[in-house]
Formats: sequence, structure tokens, C-alpha cells
Amino acid sequence: MRIYNSRSGKIEEFKVRKEEEEVGIYICGPTVYNKVHIGNLRTFIVGDMTRKVLKYKGYKVKYVMNITDIDDKIMKSLKEGAKMEEMKEYTEKYKNLFVKDMETLKMEKPQIEKVTDNMDSVIEMIKKIVKKEYGYKTRDGSVYYDITKDKNYGKGLKIKMNKMLTADQREGSRQIFKNDDLRSENDFVLWKPPHIDYPLLAWDSIYGKGRPGWHIECSAIAKKHLSHLHIHLGGEDLKFPHHTNEIAQCECGGDDRFGDFWMHVKFVKLNGSKISKSFGNTPYLDDIINLGYSPEVIRYYLLNKNYRKPLDFDIQHLDNSKNTLNLYYLSYAKLQLLITLSSSYSQLELPFDFNKLKNDMDFSLSNDFDIESFFTHFTKLSTFIRNYSYSESLNTSHLNYIYDYLNHLDSILNIFVPDKFTIPVEIQKLISSRELFRSQSDFVQSDNIRSIINSHGYSIIDDIIGPIVFKL
Ligand code: AMP
Ligand code: ZN
Repeated sequence: MRIYNSRSGKIEEFKVRKEEEEVGIYICGPTVYNKVHIGNLRTFIVGDMTRKVLKYKGYKVKYVMNITDIDDKIMKSLKEGAKMEEMKEYTEKYKNLFVKDMETLKMEKPQIEKVTDNMDSVIEMIKKIVKKEYGYKTRDGSVYYDITKDKNYGKGLKIKMNKMLTADQREGSRQIFKNDDLRSENDFVLWKPPHIDYPLLAWDSIYGKGRPGWHIECSAIAKKHLSHLHIHLGGEDLKFPHHTNEIAQCECGGDDRFGDFWMHVKFVKLNGSKISKSFGNTPYLDDIINLGYSPEVIRYYLLNKNYRKPLDFDIQHLDNSKNTLNLYYLSYAKLQLLITLSSSYSQLELPFDFNKLKNDMDFSLSNDFDIESFFTHFTKLSTFIRNYSYSESLNTSHLNYIYDYLNHLDSILNIFVPDKFTIPVEIQKLISSRELFRSQSDFVQSDNIRSIINSHGYSIIDDIIGPIVFKL
């Protein structure tokens, strides 16, 4: 397995220290103050794919995701003076919607860790940083990280520090307030005093009542829940300052390297620019489904571009995904039909180099998740099956071998949903009567029945081996 590592800026060999070791993956989860959009979902699909490819390759994997359920943006969505229960109720609602989106897109549920459930670990980590003298208190009740003391600051992800953070970066670090006690302008906050308008949304700590900074939550949660962090994932925007600060918090004072591999997912763009809620054009999952795209099409759309390339969101890309997926479905349904018909075939050799294709696909997945080249090979296989006619030699065991392999791949792809290929009895009856009309050359009747089958959401294709049907 080879993975591009943002630490080195190179593709490196992925290794675990011991053969039986569980691979620890951490992904920065959403801030739950509204729904996640299609861009966020790309990052989570890439996380899901990473986990599934590693499992496919035989690794044991533990996959942890935080949920930011305490944050200024969340507070500002609540009424002044809101109580803790009100915030919990509010964030729980958006967390559940997010989990539902993950389920819809067939992501395997991560071990989800809410920040508010991990406050002890957050405070413990701040104490450790202060003890090592990389953290200091200010008069307003905050605790800051002293970046000038940290000679390695920014080196982990090769960040060159300009003298001052830009307004955007400050906003990115969710730290826009002023504090006269800072040792350096760019020091970032570990612990903040209660918000003046939301005094009840605070926790006890040895620094007084307060709430955590943003970066500390991920460091604390990843450290607590993973025995070793092999891969840390997030969107490209998080590299600096969020991930840079996560590394600083964990490694300051010479502590062990935090995160062997750092993966950054490029953004989904809308007409070439950033998805922005302020323009009111944010694409959400349910809106896209309401436009007539199935969750599988959306999953495939998010999956089929390499994660280190930006992805455009537009109808054309969704339509292309839909068309490609329908070709894959046709192949899969044809393979199933071939298996039911194949008892009479007896040749032993596969008529094409299936093992080479399989090796090429497996290699692509191992090569920094090169999904584009994976799908090039996958399409060759799918095309072969679609074009298959009796003149070529396949027997039941070949077909089952290919079929089993496709199903094994689907542990990563999750596109061949069984109910697409399970044809209800009423539809089967329609298919049989249509075949009868066709055998009598009554094409008017057979076309009528085709329309009825289509109106139930099924596609019917007349192949040389018989009618192939699947749900669109
Ligand atoms: P947030 O809730 O803003 O912290 O975002 C959750 C995750 O989505 C983070 O890993 C972000 O980097 C990622 N993200 C945000 N916008 C996009 C986008 N347009 N494309 C891909 N990932 C994104
Ligand atoms: Zn994070």
C-alpha cells in the first residue's frame, strides 16, 4: 500500500509496525450547527473509502471521527443565555441528520466521538501542554499555545509561517477575538472563558469555567481513542492552521510523532469556486436526491475522482455518473443471468485475462487510492461482460469467480445494492409475457409491456442471452 503523505509531500510505503496491528484512522468530523453539504460529504466518502480499501487489503481498522458540538457558530444559532440541554438538543439534531446522510451514502458508521463527551481528555491534554510550558494562561481566563517557543511549529506539514495569520486563517482557526496578553499574535487558543452571551455553555476546569478551543478537541480525541494514529484525514482547508496545531499540541516538548500519514482531500467546487452557504446555492444531499439521482449515483460521483484532485459539482457530472453506473448495473445483472444459464458450459479457460485485470485493479487501489485508473480497468471488465456472447468460453466456476470478485470489490464501492437486482414476481410475470409476444413478433404488445416495466422503475435490455432487468 502506498499513500501520499502531506508530511513529506511524497507518496510513501504504508506500513504497520506489527503484522497484527490495528490501523488507527482519524477524520475531522463536522461542526453540527447545520446540515453537511456535498463538499463535506466528499471528504467523508474518501475517509470511508480509505477505511474500506485497507480492510479489503486485509488490515484491521479502527476509524474514529469527532463531532464538534461546542463552538461559537453553534452558540450563535441558539438564543442568548441558552442552557446546555438546549445546545445538546440542537447539535444532536444535526448530528443525526449527518449520520443519516452517511447511511444514505452507504458509509460505514465511524466510532463517533462528540467533543462534549470527551471534555476530561481535552482538559487533561491542555494541562499537559501547560506543564511542558508550551501553554500559558491569560488574564481573561484563556489558555494559549505559545508557538514561538515551539521550534518545530509548522514543520510537520511543511507550513511556512508568515509573520501574521491572514484574516481568513484566523477565521479558519476560529479565533477572531483579541487578547492583549498574547505572547505572539499567532498563538492559538486551547481554552476559552465562557462566552458573554452564553454563560451556561461552559465546563469546570482548573483554569476556571470555560470551553475548549477548536484544535485541541481532535488531538485529545484521537489520542484517547486510538492506540496509534496511522492515518489522519481531513479536507485540504484544514492543513493549516487546524492540523498544524493538532500536531503542535501532540508533539510539543519532543513527544512522539502524531499521525504517520496525513491525507488531505481536495474540495468540491461549484462552477469553479468555493461552495458557500452565503450564496444560498449550497448543494445538500436530499436536494440532489430530489433531483432524481439515487444515493448510489451520488456515492459513485463522489468516489470516482482521485481524492487529490478537485471535483466539480454540476448536473453534467451527475448525469455521467448515472449513465456509467447503469452500464455497470447492466453488466452485473447480465453476470447473474449468465450464472443461472451457465450449467451447460464446459470450457475451462477464461477467454480474457481476468487475473491481469484483477491485479491491475488491486494495484490501482494500493497506489494512493488511484480510483480513476481502478475504474478504467473496472470498465474493461464490465464491457467484456456486456459484450459477452455464447461464442466465448465461460463456465459456471469462471462466472462465479468473477461474480465473487465484483461482490468483494463492492465492499469498497457499495454500488451493487441487492434490491436493484432482485426482481419482484409481478415484474417477472411481465417479462415472461413480453417474451411471449416477442416470440410471436407482436412488437406493439411487447413495447407496451416494456413501458409498464419501465414505469415501475426497471430497465429491460434485450441481450443475446435473454432479457436483462435491473432497477434504475
Ligand atoms: P466543517 O464542518 O466545516 O469542519 O467541515 C467538515 C469537513 O468537510 C472538513 O474535513 C472539511 O475540510 C471538509 N470540507 C469542507 N468544505 C469542503 C468542500 N467544499 N469539499 C470537500 N471537503 C470539504
Ligand atoms: Zn480536526
